[in-house]
Amino acid sequence: MPVEAEPGAHSRPGAGRNAASTSDPPGGDRESLIGLTRAELAERLQAVGVPPDRVGMRAKQLWHWIYHRGAVEFDAMTTIGGGVRAALAERYTLARPETATEQRSTDGTRKWLLRFADGREVESVYIPEEDRGALCISSQVGCTLSCTFCHTGTQRMVRNLDAGEIVAQFLVARDSYGEWPSPRGPRLLSNIVMMGMGEPLFNYDNVAKALRIVMDPEGIALSRRRITLSTAGVVPMIERCGADLGVGLAISLHAVRDDLRNELVPINRKYPIAELLAACRRYPGASNARRITFEYVMLKGVNDSEADARALVRLIAGIPAKLNLIPFNPWPGAPYACSPPEAIERFAAIVNRAGYAAPVRAPRGRDILAACGQLKSASTPRPARRRATASPASAPAA
Ligand code: SAH
Repeated sequence: MPVEAEPGAHSRPGAGRNAASTSDPPGGDRESLIGLTRAELAERLQAVGVPPDRVGMRAKQLWHWIYHRGAVEFDAMTTIGGGVRAALAERYTLARPETATEQRSTDGTRKWLLRFADGREVESVYIPEEDRGALCISSQVGCTLSCTFCHTGTQRMVRNLDAGEIVAQFLVARDSYGEWPSPRGPRLLSNIVMMGMGEPLFNYDNVAKALRIVMDPEGIALSRRRITLSTAGVVPMIERCGADLGVGLAISLHAVRDDLRNELVPINRKYPIAELLAACRRYPGASNARRITFEYVMLKGVNDSEADARALVRLIAGIPAKLNLIPFNPWPGAPYACSPPEAIERFAAIVNRAGYAAPVRAPRGRDILAACGQLKSASTPRPARRRATASPASAPAA
């Protein structure tokens, strides 16, 4: 049934109010339109009766309302006729995931625990700088990697997030700052780091779909230069990520010898350091202006010696690189301590002298467990046959 009259004819204002409100708790039985491509939006429009010759135009309008204006109600979409709005509201939703908690650190960092329609939860963190800031986005509920120093690694893998759930983390943060319509100039939510829970390159298709949405110039319009994807080293996906998306690359290196990296970042057993660095050397678009970031968590007495620093410099020779030295952020039961400041300074000095920027990442949001490696949600997988239900606190630390 056509829901759209000829151009010029307008349904009465307020039509569509009878339809279920999109501010209902997320889930329901309506499909979310967040995270769909334009072509998929066009299909959904056609499904509610928008004539084929109008779906392209309507999809463009929807996109604008969702990603430029931040609309959460179809009824707010005043450029779209009331009949179409009502039909959309009946079938679809733009509701955000539920914010289970929102915490604010004394240093301005904000952390959201978001609950999706199936009850699964992830955390996202906004780290403000003076007039801008980065949103740290999660890609999975839990993680398969079991890095021994990472809090998320103590949580079992539950599932991948879909593209809508990844984009929704950005929308929630932007809602929280009221930063709609999407600013064309300076903005608080200026950068994205795919450094939250999970391994983004193990959920590549959904991550890529989500990042294409946030980069789209007609919506959120974040430049690929303001997006950094961090990986523990899923070597076969690295080149593709660079070629497809062109976003900045960060590598969670953390050790300069395979024996130690096998222990700290167990995926190293599959993709050892030499292969990982070879993939970095091939990374499309890496240049002195677009350096690859090597993240290195400073673990007391484990990986923080001067010999380690010198070996690091030798390893990355020839790669346009910068270092990100991360003081270890403790979490309850963690088997490591943070390197003392003098050790971190000595390490940084060696790397600096070799010509690499090596800022020490000031821990942010530690008071709300929002710093690197501290994210964790209580979601556990459904109990498997023969496996006792693990309470989050008793999940094995790798
Ligand atoms: N799986 C991806 C994305 C997570 S990024 C990756 O490994 O890169 C999260 C960053 O925080 C990684 O560099 C990770 O190694 C680092 N990290 C994890 N636990 C940490 C901790 N307790 N203290 C400091 N950094 C940590």
